[in-house]
Amino acid sequence: MLRLKGRVEEQSLLEQVLERSGQNLLRCLQCGKCSGSCPISSAAVGGPRRLIARILGGMQEEALRDPTWWYCVSCGTCAGRCPVEINMYAVSTALCEIAAARGIEASEPGIHLFEDLFLKSVKKNGRVRELRTVLEYNLRSLRPFTDALIGARLALKGNISPAAVLRPGRRDRQVTRIFEKIRQKQGQKA
Ligand code: SF4
Ligand code: SF4
Repeated sequence: MLRLKGRVEEQSLLEQVLERSGQNLLRCLQCGKCSGSCPISSAAVGGPRRLIARILGGMQEEALRDPTWWYCVSCGTCAGRCPVEINMYAVSTALCEIAAARGIEASEPGIHLFEDLFLKSVKKNGRVRELRTVLEYNLRSLRPFTDALIGARLALKGNISPAAVLRPGRRDRQVTRIFEKIRQKQGQKA
């Protein structure tokens, strides 16, 4: 079967991704099973199959600005369904590192703020407190009423509890240890 290997002048991205991720994208069949099961795939975001096609096709800029790897939640569903066992989250991590090294801005401007708030919540409570995190994100990004109607509907149906925002969180010692280990590793790298 014909494999796209990227134009000669743009092979460096493909090579870097192969090297950093340890995933052999050249085995991709473009079957689309990954995108079919990926929770963040949509018309707006694209999905793992399209992202791989962009990398293999030498579309360097498009691949590095593709929203898929910014949104990837490392759930591993794609890897579980892929007939050639490609782990997209390893590819996403590799692209994230390459984009950071090249100073490429995130496709979603608030993504770093959301990431910080998400991690802060996990560190403080042992898990993410979704509603509180979303409210804080909306306030900090100066869009306090984003998705307010959806939130009101979910509250009316009893799917979310506004009172949960006020409940104090509880630290989890194991999660705290994980954060501490990461902090130590980052200190060693610096
Ligand atoms: S499931 Fe695997 S082979 Fe199929 S498109 Fe996705 S990465 Fe490629
Ligand atoms: S690991 Fe990322 S790309 Fe794969 S299914 Fe999950 S969110 Fe989608």
